Amino acid sequence: MVRTTPPRPVDLTAHLPAFTSLARTAVRLHPRPGEPTTSDSSIGGPLLWPAREPWPTCAEHAGPFLEGASVPDVMARRRILTQAWARPRERGTNLLTEDEKAVVDRVDDGAEIAQDGPSPMVPVAQLYARDVPGLPSPDGADLVQVLWCPFDHEDDGYVPSTVVRWRVAAEVTDPLAAPPLPVAVEDNYLPQPCVLHPETVVEYPAPHCLPEELAGQVHEWEKREEQKYQYELSVATGCKVGGHAPWSFSDPYPMSCPDCGADVEPLLTIASSEWDGNQSWQPIEDAGTDHPPFPAPHEPTMLMIGRGYHLQLYTCVAFPEHGHVTNMQ
Ligand SMILES: [Zn+2]
Ligand SMILES: [Zn+2]
Repeated sequence: MVRTTPPRPVDLTAHLPAFTSLARTAVRLHPRPGEPTTSDSSIGGPLLWPAREPWPTCAEHAGPFLEGASVPDVMARRRILTQAWARPRERGTNLLTEDEKAVVDRVDDGAEIAQDGPSPMVPVAQLYARDVPGLPSPDGADLVQVLWCPFDHEDDGYVPSTVVRWRVAAEVTDPLAAPPLPVAVEDNYLPQPCVLHPETVVEYPAPHCLPEELAGQVHEWEKREEQKYQYELSVATGCKVGGHAPWSFSDPYPMSCPDCGADVEPLLTIASSEWDGNQSWQPIEDAGTDHPPFPAPHEPTMLMIGRGYHLQLYTCVAFPEHGHVTNMQ
């Protein structure tokens, strides 16, 4: 099923023509739980990975113990809660059986799990250029893969540490059959396998990023016309490629390519939630349906970045294959 962002409440540039030159396209990925394969674009799905290429690991999380939950337990907890909320029950009866509660508690409490050596990273996103208009293609690459170490990293701003790989899919003739799994993860950082429904939308800069004069104009216009620039007209919610940066709780600061110092632009935004309270960005196909509390329809990836923020990956505008930078907003 396609996913369609509802039309914006007004045509911004008809009211404020100065915004025309600030428009950028973003591709909303619209992840939804599914069973992606290595030939699909996905969030949290398996990667098309050459068997001879070492799988990325994190030296910072090398044991002898990792504090977290096992991947099978995290997946079991999600399955248990999904099934429990779906079954009918009498008022006042427990949602979970004793056995189910034991698994849920084990994940929620965490444990020290023995780990010997650098912990393998987990797949976060795999994007084929055919599915994502405007995806950069350094050296003819038609596939980009993002992995992360599913724990907070102090040096990265208390978010997962990320790795980006660009590939030519046809060159992967010996795909890795069984990628390594970490013994433990932070459950909020293990993406639920999702298939994607890419949709191109137009974005304008977050209010913090506007030149002062335009910020003033849009503020006056908002008051006059009762419009909400930040929440309905500027930056789309949810996981996406490209577009503008969703600066929110901190003022923008300059970021540059760690390899050549050139400007960087948003590559991938991993969001905690696909739409927020005002539902302006909730796809038409998802509207009006009644859901149990778990899984929440606006949280298909089951990721929680900080207190419900975004993790953005930026790439060099000159050479996308250069090292990337990340930022949480
Ligand atoms: Zn790590
Ligand atoms: Zn660069």
